[in-house]
This record gives sequence, C-alpha cells and structure tokens, in this order.
Amino acid sequence: MNFHVLTLFPDMIVNGLNHSIIGRAIDNKILQINTINIRDYADNKHMKVDDYPYGGGAGLVMQARPVCAAYDDLVSTLQKKPRVVYMTPVGYTFTQEMAQEFAKEEELVILCGHYEGIDERALERIVTDYVSIGDYVLTGGELPAMIMIDVIARLLPGVLHNGESAQTESFENDLLEYPQYTRPEVFEGVSVPKVLLSGHHANVDEWRLKQSIERTKKYRPDLYNKYMERRG
Ligand code: SAM
Repeated sequence: MNFHVLTLFPDMIVNGLNHSIIGRAIDNKILQINTINIRDYADNKHMKVDDYPYGGGAGLVMQARPVCAAYDDLVSTLQKKPRVVYMTPVGYTFTQEMAQEFAKEEELVILCGHYEGIDERALERIVTDYVSIGDYVLTGGELPAMIMIDVIARLLPGVLHNGESAQTESFENDLLEYPQYTRPEVFEGVSVPKVLLSGHHANVDEWRLKQSIERTKKYRPDLYNKYMERRG
C-alpha cells in the first residue's frame, strides 16, 4: 500500500514512522510512505504558504493554491484520482472499522493542515474523507496522519509477524482486550491468574471473554451496549 502525505513538515512523518514494526514493513516494501512538501509548491520567493483569514480572527490559514498544486502533481504521477483524507477536528472520528476500510486502498493520500487549517476551497476540490483522531485540537495534522498510517499498516498482510494478533485485539467485535501476562509467574507477590497456567484452552477463552466484557462495560459503556445489541 502506498501512503502519500501532503504536509509542511515531511521530516516529522518520515522520522516518526521509520521505526519498529512499521519501519520493518517499509524496509520489506509492504508499504511505502511518500511525503510531499506543500511548501515546494509555493509561488513566491519567500515560499510563503499561509495568509490571514478573510473576515478576521486569530492565526493564519494555509492557502488553497499550493495545496491544490501539490495534489495535482501527485495525481498526474499516479494517473488516477486517489482517496484523499484530510486530518481535521471537523471530521468523523477515526475507528478501527475505518482503518479496515482504508486498508483496502492501494493509494491513500493524507492531507495535514497546520496553523488554523486550510482554505475551504482547496478542501472542497480535493478531499474525499474528513477524519478526526479525537475531540481535542493539535497544532498540526502530522501526528494524526502518523496515527492513522500506523493503525492501517498493522492490518496489511505481512506487517505483523503473528497474523492472529490483529484479529484478537481491542475493538474487534466491539470489545476491549482482556488483561495480558508474561513471565515471571509471580511478580512482587502477585500471581498470574491460575486459569492461564492450566493449559485448558476452552477455560482460557472463556476467562478472556469474561474479562473483555467486564472491561468494556466499565471503560466503554457505548461499546458494551453495541456488543450486547449485536448478541441480541
Ligand atoms: N482551527 C481548526 C479548528 O478549530 O477546527 C484547528 C486547526 S489545528 C490548530 C491545525 C491542524 O491540525 C488542522 O488543520 C488538522 O490538520 C490538525 N488537527 C488538529 N486537531 C486534530 C484532530 N483532533 N484530528 C485530526 N487532525 C487534527
């Protein structure tokens, strides 16, 4: 899968994702992260890409022209119109389900805003999806873009070594994950739950499901209600 990130801070994206599991997936060519610096498309000698908002108000707004020029250049290279996700607090909240949907794309463009955001005319022209990572405001779309790429990348075949783990995690089936334990068996006097040492797989599964349900009910009643509705 190819991610194309339109940003004013390409180094943030490259340096932030080039590690651990995602770094290995890039090395193995399972995914590619292509950053496009919007500033390279400025049409003035100071390479300015933002200006004051019409109507007044605080901060600066990214101009439509360099954003659209960067996008047009990318489209002519790809020779097709890809899906373009704008990272914005004014969007649908990112979910595991959305990640599964995006993971089906061969090319995905992610547009990162900065300052007060991007001129609406550019957004209307190029954006297909508006996605927020939560109800808070960050300084730029780069961290949200990295979060989205990380979540989607883990779903791609070959990225995780244990193919199972992406299917037994939080949010699959509207449940949060059960507690996990590893060696030693006793840590500071606290033992691992006995059932996990029993070797009895059915009992382990039953215990895990019960834990998942209890945790979901406690921390995410909204998900718990969905889970209960689905069970009928
Ligand atoms: N003025 C905008 C508003 O109130 O909706 C916020 C602009 S924010 C300071 C700058 C950029 O950060 C946005 O254009 C967006 O790309 C990104 N951003 C900030 N919070 C975000 C969030 N919760 N989810 C996704 N992107 C976000």
